[in-house]
Amino acid sequence: MADFRTHFTTACTVSGIFATTALYTGEITLIDTVLIWGTGTFGGLLPDIDSDNSITLTITSTLLAAIIAIGLGGYLASRVPLAHNLALITAVLWFFRGAVIPFFARITVHRGNWHSLSAAFLFAFCITNCSYHFFEKTASFSFLLGLNGGIGFITHLFLDEIFAINLASLKLKRSFGTALKLWDFSSPCLSTLLLALCAVQIYYLPGFQPLESIISKLLETTKMGLG
Ligand SMILES: [Zn+2]
Repeated sequence: MADFRTHFTTACTVSGIFATTALYTGEITLIDTVLIWGTGTFGGLLPDIDSDNSITLTITSTLLAAIIAIGLGGYLASRVPLAHNLALITAVLWFFRGAVIPFFARITVHRGNWHSLSAAFLFAFCITNCSYHFFEKTASFSFLLGLNGGIGFITHLFLDEIFAINLASLKLKRSFGTALKLWDFSSPCLSTLLLALCAVQIYYLPGFQPLESIISKLLETTKMGLG
């Protein structure tokens, strides 16, 4: 299994390349680029929120709590007075750290359902929908944000599988195949729930035409950059 530093460095590099390419499409601003980069990097750390290692769990859950606080604060800023905003953020953070994370730790096992492609897709879809519906960002930006979040997540799963190969003897460790999977046979109920949540999120995506358009712009930009 790759360690925290390896996951962070790799996710930061891969999502940085994606975010910079996205900037060259002309669809986003420099600040958008930084947000997309940060989301991809965070996506590369998120799978280990199911970790039994307390340091990894603390870092990942603290980062997630910070993102929730910033997102919620930003969303409420123009809707409620400052005192209400601060009270709501505090309540949500207490609930998140005191109830959600312990519950999540209880129902998940490391390298279980949360280390899967369906979890990566769910993360990407949720980010796209939050950005588009709650923060009223453009469909292009929302898809770029979700795409890079998903890329960061999947990069983590790839790294875990690569580190499950013993390069000296070319033998596979027991953990091989437990990260890059679509379905966890040891926990079919949670696997079904993840796929059902993915289906719900797909329903709310901002349409496939903007996704098709942004992907073709990304490919065109990459082709021009390499040519
Ligand atoms: Zn992992």
